[in-house]
Amino acid sequence: MLFKEICIIFDKIERTTKRLEKMDYFIELIKLTKEKGSPNDLKNICYITIGRVFAEYENKELGIGPNLLIEAIKTIGINEKKLLNSIKETGDIGIALEKLSSDVKQVSLFQTPLMLDDVYVTLKKISEIEGANSQKKKIRYISNLLLKASPIERRYLVRLILEDMRIGMSVPTILSAFSLYFNIPKEKLEKIYAVVNDIGLIAEKLMLNADINKDEDLKLRIFRPIKPMLAQLIPSIGDAIVEMGTPQFETKYDGARVQIHKKDKNVKIYSRKLEDITNSIPEIVDEVKNMGVDNIIVEGECVAIDLKTGHPRPFQDILRRFRRKYDIDKIKEEINLRVYLFDILYYNESLIDLSLKERRKILENIIGINDWEIDKTKIENEIKSKKKIDISYKLTTNDLEKAMDFYKWSLSIGHEGVMIKNPNAPYTPGSRVRTMYKFKPTLESLDVVITRAKIGMGKRKDWYGSFEIAVKDEEGNLYPIGHVGSGLTEEELDKLTEILKSIKINEIDGEAIVEPKIVLEVSYEEIQKSDKYECGYALRFPRVVRIREDKSVDDINTVDDVKRIFAIQKGKH
Ligand code: AMP
Repeated sequence: MLFKEICIIFDKIERTTKRLEKMDYFIELIKLTKEKGSPNDLKNICYITIGRVFAEYENKELGIGPNLLIEAIKTIGINEKKLLNSIKETGDIGIALEKLSSDVKQVSLFQTPLMLDDVYVTLKKISEIEGANSQKKKIRYISNLLLKASPIERRYLVRLILEDMRIGMSVPTILSAFSLYFNIPKEKLEKIYAVVNDIGLIAEKLMLNADINKDEDLKLRIFRPIKPMLAQLIPSIGDAIVEMGTPQFETKYDGARVQIHKKDKNVKIYSRKLEDITNSIPEIVDEVKNMGVDNIIVEGECVAIDLKTGHPRPFQDILRRFRRKYDIDKIKEEINLRVYLFDILYYNESLIDLSLKERRKILENIIGINDWEIDKTKIENEIKSKKKIDISYKLTTNDLEKAMDFYKWSLSIGHEGVMIKNPNAPYTPGSRVRTMYKFKPTLESLDVVITRAKIGMGKRKDWYGSFEIAVKDEEGNLYPIGHVGSGLTEEELDKLTEILKSIKINEIDGEAIVEPKIVLEVSYEEIQKSDKYECGYALRFPRVVRIREDKSVDDINTVDDVKRIFAIQKGKH
């Protein structure tokens, strides 16, 4: 398929803000592929549409920053100053390059047009380049693509290289288009998507007329991580009891979520962002290998336990462990980890449609029982032990007083609060449904993404010191909700500045616009109604609690979360 034909439809999608029209144009793309392409082409078109080269579950990025891209653009005859000015004017590197296309060096008149395959295969190749001279090689590949391309193709090529297509087309809209065109209920497609986490695969199967209810590739599969089920906020424990009857309470551990897959004695562990962190936590891997059961996917919270007190160590310690690539044996001694398993999703077959009660039983048969009411003494004795894998502490009750006791006890051992789960609910990957709540003592902190950054003043003049932070809507559109400058150490500011420089897209009035990649957890005094921001709310006195390297822009809080917290704050919900 000609890449240009696809770009022309992307342009139509980009020009409308109406979701239904975007869907219609995407259907044009499906029809075009039916006519001129293959199921594999639609697969690649889907990845490109959402600004990716790899499937979502793969958690792999192309990793080309704006600086390298600009170097590549320079090689095709574009003057850097002119380019930077044009970016400033248009606010977008894609449009900027498209506009300057008459400056591009001429290539042979007999140049063949760019095909979708050329683009896709080249980008994959770029992602594999490593070692000496890798930057140079990447630049060469990119400039070859850019030389071959027409102006409109250049717009989308550079955006794709930065993995930000800016056409306002997200996975839910693609699923809606599939639903309409292939006449399949959207809910069904959403459910499959949550399990496979791969929009391209769904596209390919639909084009192949596969039976999506039975197709093995579309089922939960070991070593293909799924998006975790997410929790909602609830104003009080009492509310949860009213809503759920007899919920299952669990300690909400202060750690990082892990998804553990095991098959034929092979083990892989994924972070919440679905990164493969297997190599960084070998002691947990060994323990899983010895678990005596095979063919499983389990989920839990990985906590750095201070063995003297039994309390969790700072969250940063876990991230230090997850990030570490060398000297792992040394840091292993320093930072002791324990995983509290709280769910099982697969055991020889998918278990996600079973109720939590049934899943918990299966997990208890494998790991053991930590029933707070009965096993409290055992639990307290084991807290300082070297146990590497345990099951989460649970209490199933409809008695508010008991639940409060459990909550206070969970805080007393240094954790964050309690999770409140509906024992009759299935596991719903990737969605925030009302079957799992979290309850913490303070107003919920928010996970936000940095969208702009300003250089600080005085002592902070060498760093970015003030950040515009944003939440998102269901479609993934970002909405600024405030500016944060406090709460970061000098070391953190240094690190952030370095990363921000590498993801800077543009600069307006001394403020850098950056790719939305850095997630911060922020606390605040309260949420206020505000006309200043489009979403209608603003954070009062926000403060950075920590940099959430374990989260991506997909994990940040939504405008709806903000509304809910605002309501809780006002005492209504
Ligand atoms: P949050 O990240 O604030 O949305 O809170 C939900 C997170 O709490 C989950 O993603 C887990 O990482 C974490 N968590 C800690 N303990 C538990 C537990 N017992 N059950 C489920 N999630 C837990």
